Amino acid sequence: MRGAVIHAPGDVRFETLDDPKIIQPTDAVIRTVSTCVCGSDLWPYRGAEPIGDPHPMGHEYVGIVEEVGSEVTHVRPGQFVVGSFATSDNTCVNCRNGWQSSCLSREFMSTCQAEYVRIPNAHGTLVATDEHPDAEMVPSLLAVSDVMGTGWYAALAAEVKPGSTAVVVGDGAVGLCGVIAAKELGAERIIAMSRHESRQKLALEFGATDIISERGEEGIARVKDLTGGIGADSVLECVGTAESMRQALHSTRPGGNVGFVGVPHEVSIDGQELFFSQVGLRGGPAPVRRYLPDLIDRVLSGRINPGKVFDLTLPLDQVAEGYKAMDERRAIKTLLKP
Ligand SMILES: [Zn+2]
Repeated sequence: MRGAVIHAPGDVRFETLDDPKIIQPTDAVIRTVSTCVCGSDLWPYRGAEPIGDPHPMGHEYVGIVEEVGSEVTHVRPGQFVVGSFATSDNTCVNCRNGWQSSCLSREFMSTCQAEYVRIPNAHGTLVATDEHPDAEMVPSLLAVSDVMGTGWYAALAAEVKPGSTAVVVGDGAVGLCGVIAAKELGAERIIAMSRHESRQKLALEFGATDIISERGEEGIARVKDLTGGIGADSVLECVGTAESMRQALHSTRPGGNVGFVGVPHEVSIDGQELFFSQVGLRGGPAPVRRYLPDLIDRVLSGRINPGKVFDLTLPLDQVAEGYKAMDERRAIKTLLKP
């Protein structure tokens, strides 16, 4: 089969790879229906994370089950499945507590930009739909496997409640899905921070009520202007830089909460600043598996359409262009079809 391999910053190639096989009885192999490029894939692509030896890429996927190990009994070959970027057995104590992204047998997916993918912990990770979904539903189901699940977690971690005010820091795919989540969870006012017109438009379509294009001190001041001078009840941090974390912390009112889901890069928080902010912080990799059944239902019922974050669709063999377009901000998110 063929798939994407990163060799160096800016150098992603589509190459022949070994066909994935069942290794553990809890594995499955799926034929990829759609996969995509994640904002976090851009960290190594831009040289902000070491790459080491050339390796496959991708952690978002929907597909058709090809083969299952002997302990995978809840899905069968031929079914359409959605899974999380973090695999989980769904039975250990962390899973039972709802924190499947900290599963004691967790393996992160990292080979999904390929024609076939081995899914470890498939017995706990994969959720099958009742029928094969219509083609127009596939992008939204793919979004559920990471960006929508992550935006959902950001909103829950920030404790968005009916009638509350939420700020979303970051206008990438996760931030835009965070707007959907805040709306679904009943936020009355949703302030999206974005400087890009196409992303502002999508944020408004997804339910944002206000847009702030300023950043830094000015951005914080604008949030305060809109929130009675104190900051928002909930802030979703969806970037992972020192600047965005600072923006989030200082946009939250005393007693409010920040949900941070941008993978932090060179973020440090001053103890005194945090202490006097009286802000609650919860972040980390989203336990997407916990939300899959609910989010799949919301997609299939037409209630949410997070697939709109994909503004570029390419054949999988043009994966290199998919990265380049996102790196150059010509695309919010690239969907890839084998
Ligand atoms: Zn577990």
